[in-house]
Amino acid sequence: MATIGFIGLGNMGGGMAANLAKAGHKVIAFDLSGEALARAGSAGCHPVSDPVQAVSDADVIVTMLPAGKHVASVYNDSVFGAARPGTLLIDCSTIDVDTARHVAAAAKERGLEAVDAPVSGGIAAANGGTLTFMVGGSSGGFSRAAPILNDMGKAVIHAGDNGAGQAAKICNNMLLGATMAATCETFALAKKLGLDLQTFYDISSKASGQSWSMTSYCPVPGVGPTSPADNGYAGGFAAALMLKDMRLALEASKANGAQVPMGERAEAIYAAFVEADAQGLDFSAIITALE
Ligand code: NAD
Repeated sequence: MATIGFIGLGNMGGGMAANLAKAGHKVIAFDLSGEALARAGSAGCHPVSDPVQAVSDADVIVTMLPAGKHVASVYNDSVFGAARPGTLLIDCSTIDVDTARHVAAAAKERGLEAVDAPVSGGIAAANGGTLTFMVGGSSGGFSRAAPILNDMGKAVIHAGDNGAGQAAKICNNMLLGATMAATCETFALAKKLGLDLQTFYDISSKASGQSWSMTSYCPVPGVGPTSPADNGYAGGFAAALMLKDMRLALEASKANGAQVPMGERAEAIYAAFVEADAQGLDFSAIITALE
């Protein structure tokens, strides 16, 4: 069992740190929020009041932070100067590919091994230990990270070198954002054409219009399997987080000369929705704006 420094105990990190403690690891936990620290303490972690304390004795350091700037500042201010040589750094946050590559190179210069390991699956999967991890890093880094990630997830996939985990994550979420937008506008059109939406679902879910957005996460209340639509679009994956991921994908497309017209249009739909949404609704709630 490893000594793990865990930084970022929010909606996702709280459950992930708890699962590592449950698996028998010694988890030394830090967050800027006192509430998050207290929750981690109740879940079997050892809360500390300074990030350096969380990392200085660790074999492995896991971060689950909001965005690239937070990861870069935690690594620069607290990890690089305090981690022991050879320590494995696993960043599970969803961040831009450039920052992921940059921090991995800076870690290597200091004798540390870094992998990016963003997740698919929301808060329920973080709490239940059923996340999917897409990992960017060397084969050696992946082999070291996999057993730790397995204690928090159901699937751990090596996507390629440093940054490849983040690249896979933003490509997947750009596709998800666009298919959800297309699914929502299609149901809105079906309604205007007088179709019964359950009947249209029964047809399209078995025809060539089928997608995960339709058959696993249908945006229409009462149609398909239970989804946030059946709960007033509360919970699930917030539209603001989808917007963040779509923007990461668009930035990467510009930096790499890729044409993503569908991604651009979908990003504009989420941006307009998030601006008007005071409740932090699920990303499938864009159907309410398209109807
Ligand atoms: P969150 O805002 O709930 O948690 C982030 C935590 O980081 C907070 O507790 C905050 O206090 C802490 N933090 C910020 N700066 C810090 C610092 N300098 N030092 C220590 N702690 C600091 O966010 P979340 O929903 O847990 O998401 C975390 C990451 O996971 C994001 O990158 C997000 O895009 C990604 N993600 C989220 C979901 C989801 O459904 N919530 C799903 C997949 C991926």
